[in-house]
Amino acid sequence: MLFRTITKENFRKMVEALMENNEVIGPKWRDRDTEGNKIYRFLKLNTFDELQMDYTRSYSSPKNYFLPFKEDLSTYRLEDKDWEQEIHYTIHPRVIIGMRACDINALLKLDQVLVKSAYPNPHYVARRRNTLIIGLDHEPLEDCFCRSMNSDTAFHGFDLFLTDIGEKYFVAINSDTGYMIVNRFDAREVAEDDQRRYKEVKGRIETKFKTQVDVTIVPELMDLEFESDVWKKWGDKCLSCGSCAMVCPTCYCYGIEEHTNLTFTKATKRRVLYSCNLLDFATVAGGHNFRPEAHIRLKYRYYHQFRGFVEAFNQSLCVGCNRCGKACLAGISPKVVIDDLIETEKR
Ligand code: SF4
Ligand code: SF4
Repeated sequence: MLFRTITKENFRKMVEALMENNEVIGPKWRDRDTEGNKIYRFLKLNTFDELQMDYTRSYSSPKNYFLPFKEDLSTYRLEDKDWEQEIHYTIHPRVIIGMRACDINALLKLDQVLVKSAYPNPHYVARRRNTLIIGLDHEPLEDCFCRSMNSDTAFHGFDLFLTDIGEKYFVAINSDTGYMIVNRFDAREVAEDDQRRYKEVKGRIETKFKTQVDVTIVPELMDLEFESDVWKKWGDKCLSCGSCAMVCPTCYCYGIEEHTNLTFTKATKRRVLYSCNLLDFATVAGGHNFRPEAHIRLKYRYYHQFRGFVEAFNQSLCVGCNRCGKACLAGISPKVVIDDLIETEKR
């Protein structure tokens, strides 16, 4: 990895230049929540001034620029006895600015399934290849437990990664494209003073992690506590709304819908993101539901995040952003559920 610095004025010029030929996405302030906190979302930027580099939490993750909520996979046209299928992978170049380390790590986890598996998802692959990622360091929020999930720093999965060191950004460069872009805007060699300030900022970030989740024994615990009352306790509160999966940067379950016209001469195959907490997630043809109870569905979501993915890829799927905990109206979060399981195991 190479390191440079860029002044904030030159960073502005760089973003404005990127906006000329690319769709540029970044955190924008949209609203306030009931406690008066600002709500940010990753949205298309029309001007540099819309970019909020000091944003705190984005309620949903930038995942949906790679896995949209709805996506047409193919269309069919039937005429006489012949038929035609159309598939579009056309992706316009895109830049996402301000992604947190946890969200970058989330994409790397999705890559394991959607790029590196036996059946890659070509739409996702096309978006990954055509998206330039500019990450951004930040001080953790009270409830972030990304450090426990080993996702508080990113070593790859981005083109540029910025750390605010005052009037400049300290820039980690991780791709040829990133190198060429930043060098066009007078990026400088790292001076001794830049390095000192960078270490100060990193040191301050280190001290700000408040929430920890002990995940060392969680995969084993999931098996030991498979029949635990903890699942019933939290499952009975679950509203089966699916919000947790919608905001999660790593949930990728989906359903496929077929839409046909009335004469059955045209059809569209559409993928929609889904949640394993939704009532009909495990319903099969004929109407049988393999997971009719909320606590069973909740348990399986946690199993996928903290047990199944570990078995398949030697790492948890969860990156510790706690977006699911923030979105859940029933107060269910990985921290409370896992702490509860650990307490139960001790008894
Ligand atoms: S904390 Fe929740 S939303 Fe964030 S990655 Fe883990 S399961 Fe997903
Ligand atoms: S855990 Fe919370 S957010 Fe997720 S489905 Fe249940 S009530 Fe909704």
